[in-house]
Amino acid sequence: MAMTYEMYEFRKLLKELRRKRGRGTELISLYIPPGRPVADVMRYLRKEYDQAGNIKDKLTRKNVQSALESIMQRLKLYRKVPPNGLVIFCGAIPQGADRGTEKIEIYVIEPPEPVPSFRYVCDHEFYLEPLEDMAREKKAYGLIVMDRGGGLVALLRGSTYQILEWVTADIPPKHSAGGQSQRRFERIREERVHDFFKRLGARASKALLPYLNELEGIIIGGPGDAREKFEEGDFMDYRLQQKVVANLPLSYTEEQGLRELIIKAQDYMREASLYEERSKVEKLLTMLATRPGAVAYGVGEVVRALQAGAAEEVLVLEDVDYEYVVRTCQNCGYQESEIRRSSKAQSKGWTCPKCGATTFTEEKTHIIEYVGELAKQSAAKVSIVNPKSEWGEQLAALGGIAALLRYEFSS
Ligand SMILES: [Zn+2]
Repeated sequence: MAMTYEMYEFRKLLKELRRKRGRGTELISLYIPPGRPVADVMRYLRKEYDQAGNIKDKLTRKNVQSALESIMQRLKLYRKVPPNGLVIFCGAIPQGADRGTEKIEIYVIEPPEPVPSFRYVCDHEFYLEPLEDMAREKKAYGLIVMDRGGGLVALLRGSTYQILEWVTADIPPKHSAGGQSQRRFERIREERVHDFFKRLGARASKALLPYLNELEGIIIGGPGDAREKFEEGDFMDYRLQQKVVANLPLSYTEEQGLRELIIKAQDYMREASLYEERSKVEKLLTMLATRPGAVAYGVGEVVRALQAGAAEEVLVLEDVDYEYVVRTCQNCGYQESEIRRSSKAQSKGWTCPKCGATTFTEEKTHIIEYVGELAKQSAAKVSIVNPKSEWGEQLAALGGIAALLRYEFSS
């Protein structure tokens, strides 16, 4: 799947947090799992606050205690921990080279997946691993590794896997008696193989059907041709059978084969995600050639379409170089906005059209964030496109941003 705006936003925040450094071990990371009573967490934090009173260095002590105070203040706003839990990062971040320039920064995050366990970490950087894990590709794939000797069924999520089933075959080894008994022997052997395929199919169905909705695909692999015979024979439930997206040759079976298949499957998934991106851009280009009124392109047009609620799906290059700027007159509060290249420096001279004053402030938002927020309001989809691709270049030729429209719209 192409990257969504939500994921883009989440990864961007993580990148920002990764750069934050405290002077001492002054930065607090707090992970609260769903269902944990807020009062319990408050009690825990108050205890930490008291213990921080023992910190020898006066400034460190002050910074840790102020951070804890900020966290407790924020936590008071919650009667209950949100459905996925809550993650809070807080600490004194130096704003300059000197000691004493630190400012308390706080980030409160409702994560996209449930917080696995309670953690309180005090360090010179924020503890981000559990969130980094959530930022990784998480689609599930069913994997089947097999040959005529046996098979296993596993579930792959991101880079972690879980073996759900082992199925062994009960097949007599080949021998060469010759003649009549040889033919009978071969027949028995074929029956046993068929029987094993049936059992493997049934066990795979039972193991994977509970994950049907989240399964992006099923990948089969193994040495020899058993894997192909298994797929051709429709031994699995038809709903799973339809999800088979690849059948790959492997050198090994069992767990070693599984590890081999995971590496190959990850290549396949990368390809699949690129393929999806490419098809989206191609669909847009086809539309542009056949029904140009159903497409908006260029930053101005796309933003107007979004504001009108006319955009259905926006494609935007990850490195698109625009920003949305709101200028406020410092004298009378008059505001105006514009979209411009981010590489341009702050507007030089400006005179307020209302009061004639020349002092003003500017607030800038990167265009992807601006577009993402507009899209949320009208339930439009946003896909972030990799600029270093052929289709990325095609999108760049349209100004780096384009949208498929719900209805023809002229701006
Ligand atoms: Zn003014």
